[in-house]
Amino acid sequence: MKRVYNFSAGPSILPEAVLNKAAAEMLDYEGSGQSVMEMSHRSKVFQGIIDGAEALLREVMNIPDNYKVLFLQGGASSQFAAIPLNLATKSKKADYVLTGQWATKAYKEAARYCEANVVASSKDKTFSYIPKLDPDTFTKDADYFYICMNNTIYGTVYHELPDTGDVPLVADISSCILSTPIDVSKFGILYAGAQKNMAPAGLTVVIVREDLIGHASDICPTMFNFQTHADNGSMFNTPPCWTIYIAKLVLEWIKNDIGGLEKMKEINEKKAGILYNFLDNSNLFKGTVVPEDRSLMNVPFITGNDELDAKFIKEATANDFVNIKGHRSVGGMRASIYNAMPVEGVEKLVKFMGEFEAQNS
Ligand SMILES: *Cc1c(COP(=O)(O)O)cnc(C)c1O
Repeated sequence: MKRVYNFSAGPSILPEAVLNKAAAEMLDYEGSGQSVMEMSHRSKVFQGIIDGAEALLREVMNIPDNYKVLFLQGGASSQFAAIPLNLATKSKKADYVLTGQWATKAYKEAARYCEANVVASSKDKTFSYIPKLDPDTFTKDADYFYICMNNTIYGTVYHELPDTGDVPLVADISSCILSTPIDVSKFGILYAGAQKNMAPAGLTVVIVREDLIGHASDICPTMFNFQTHADNGSMFNTPPCWTIYIAKLVLEWIKNDIGGLEKMKEINEKKAGILYNFLDNSNLFKGTVVPEDRSLMNVPFITGNDELDAKFIKEATANDFVNIKGHRSVGGMRASIYNAMPVEGVEKLVKFMGEFEAQNS
């Protein structure tokens, strides 16, 4: 059997311990004689899985009791509509910071349902930084303030949160959930597509403060209304059962094998440090993000020469460093080093980059 070093931005690498456990339990989950893929979502066995996943997420992320955890489908992209449909119902105004493609898509979708306002953007420099935010420019009576915390394509992250006062802060944390501790109480809503750092594709996790539930607009589809899912324990309809099960295994891995999010953060800082340190000292490769806003999870870099980039990607792939091509909109390279990427994978990548540099400069 061969396993590559997978730097995919998503769907992405999963911990090998999780894949092994899922394989061992594939045909007979805990004596039920069935795979989790096959069982009724209304069964006692599956209820144990979804309850366990929620309890672990609450424990690992330290989620306060006045927040609901929803296990949904439709991807992070469905939340681009669900958020305005649920929240933008008082002043019908919302503030957005445009830090990349995902934030821009969210903003454009929100503009269909409410008065969406752009407070800042980093588009002028290909989203290579997080704009400095001035609370005086925020809409005072906005129903919410929206950010994309970690910008998967461009490799930036907010190290400091905007001070939005009483306006609920909403954050897309698709590509940084579970990578470091987050103070959930600072947010009205946190949400994430699971396929980056949490589970396979198919699950969207929404963590929503209870007082923000129950005010959806009249045109909000039943399936997009947070109340629907909060009232039904995420089982109004069939949930993404298998993905929830894998998320539970990933959370067990973080809790038991890693030792929680503080430890996870240490490991992620170590990995990112190795790669950024190499980039800062290389004569061939360079990072594309301003140092103060660099992501721990997604590291874009270039040689400055398209042909050399293509050659690097080809040779990296031949050496089992796969999915390292940058997003189709920006080119170059991007190493996504999510939780499941071992330190050794980053060390080997850097060694390979050093060899490539020696041969090509
Ligand atoms: C991948 C990604 C999305 C889109 O997720 P889907 O689940 O494919 O809709 C949205 N936001 C961020 C930050 C992402 O990384």
